[in-house]
Amino acid sequence: MRLDDLDPSDNVRDLGSGGWGGFGGGGGGNILLGLLPMLLGSRLGCGTLALIAIGAAIFMAIGGGGSLIGTGGAPGGGAQVSENKPCDTAAELQACRVMKSTEQTWSKLFAAQGGRYQPAILNFYQGGVQSGCGAASSAAGPFYCPSDRSVYLDTGFFDELKNRFGAAGDFAQNYVIAHEVGHHVQNLTGTMEQVHARQGRLSKAEGNALSVRVELQADCYAGVWAAQNRDRLEPGDIEEGMRAANAIGDDTLQRQAQGTVVPESFTHGTSEQRMRWLRRGLESGDPKACDTFSGAV
Ligand SMILES: [Zn+2]
Repeated sequence: MRLDDLDPSDNVRDLGSGGWGGFGGGGGGNILLGLLPMLLGSRLGCGTLALIAIGAAIFMAIGGGGSLIGTGGAPGGGAQVSENKPCDTAAELQACRVMKSTEQTWSKLFAAQGGRYQPAILNFYQGGVQSGCGAASSAAGPFYCPSDRSVYLDTGFFDELKNRFGAAGDFAQNYVIAHEVGHHVQNLTGTMEQVHARQGRLSKAEGNALSVRVELQADCYAGVWAAQNRDRLEPGDIEEGMRAANAIGDDTLQRQAQGTVVPESFTHGTSEQRMRWLRRGLESGDPKACDTFSGAV
């Protein structure tokens, strides 16, 4: 995807490493590791973020956000706090330009509805971070925190995307960021709040099913963004996005992690669903085509 004519977004910070500060130094004090899905419906409140084992998910109904995928693992992360310059590596610069592009696109789409888009903040970090939704490890993958309207990204995830998930390419990375921005859009439109209100009254399985709808809509919104920038797409981009969406479907991740699949525990959707909703956004370029809340998904 050609984005190099764009200035990096201004709404970017680099938190560096050692974002575990406030948790007793170095460790992952408040982190819950290896929890099975889902903590939906439970009230962990701000300050606690649940990181889920592979195949499960980190859906912050809790602190209230959404991650891209359902993987987790041990927290990395040094204890050293540093303040870095954002957008200073190739991977960061690309992410900063994607943010800029999403700001332009969603500003236009919100304005078309008589609204005003307020940009999200993109926070880079390494290893671990203290977000507005609690502490998180980069092992959990990129995520969006609604309470501070921020996307959190350790660009090391892109290596994982390529090497572990077999999804290489710039557009695979762009899709990841656009998906998280999709959650920000859901936050601005009030969808996220409505979902959380409903989730408190649902069973775990029902809550998970609702979470899948949230995630698929974020995938669709990622596709809408790309469609709105169709003239920037290069050959192979769509395939890169599809490969990434395929690789991070719940069924695919669970099959890899445990050999079996438990559909009731899905929180992000199957590979087929993720690809289909990303494609729907790509083909329509219209957020209205991303209604994942009525009918079957
Ligand atoms: Zn998500």
